Amino acid sequence: MIVGNRKPLDEILQMVKPYKKILLLGCRECITVCAAGGEREVSVLASELKMSRMKDGQDIEIKEFTLERQCDFEYIDQIKPFVDEYEAIVSMACGAGIQYTSERFPKKIVLPAINTTFLGVALEYGVWSERCQGCGDCILHLTGGICPVARCAKSLFNGPCGGSSNGKCEVNKEADCAWQLIVDRLKSLGQLDKYEEVILEKDWSTSRDGGPRKRIREDLRMQK
Ligand code: SF4
Ligand code: SF4
Repeated sequence: MIVGNRKPLDEILQMVKPYKKILLLGCRECITVCAAGGEREVSVLASELKMSRMKDGQDIEIKEFTLERQCDFEYIDQIKPFVDEYEAIVSMACGAGIQYTSERFPKKIVLPAINTTFLGVALEYGVWSERCQGCGDCILHLTGGICPVARCAKSLFNGPCGGSSNGKCEVNKEADCAWQLIVDRLKSLGQLDKYEEVILEKDWSTSRDGGPRKRIREDLRMQK
């Protein structure tokens, strides 16, 4: 899932300072699961904004609305009938959802209420951890299912760097050394021979950089 954190209230208050009527827009997908921008968080932020503005003797009208997904035109267009009633949209989606809202409504001010952080997993209730950086050229079959791009502090393709100590990373002593984890996993899978394979550098110009990447399924496009 995409994991994010809500921005501090003061930062959001600063952004909405010029506006008296805002649409506060949540998303029911990843950002709900990581408890940052779903219906409940929309309601909490709306109350906090109203109380803060009231303390300053200023009004604010807030419409709370949570879409199924903010990154999908089928859902984002649901706000079309009433979006013009509001001076600005405060989006509680991930960075993709915030940008897409802005693209679909180019004349509308769209403000981010979420700091999007990583693609990750829920380790336990209330704890999420990064697992993937969407590099576009997955090598998990070579690394025992552990991603060195996301989990090694130096994103080394051929590690370890030599600085780990007692299985911990030299950059962050709290974190396990990703390459120690990879070697241990390969050993337990009886695949240590894979560790001998040198993983070649990636051509990020095609798999990662060079503008926004796209995925196109012609069969689905033809069903339109
Ligand atoms: S190798 Fe790339 S695609 Fe695979 S998990 Fe790591 S960052 Fe994600
Ligand atoms: S100690 Fe391990 S995880 Fe940390 S930077 Fe070196 S190889 Fe990567």
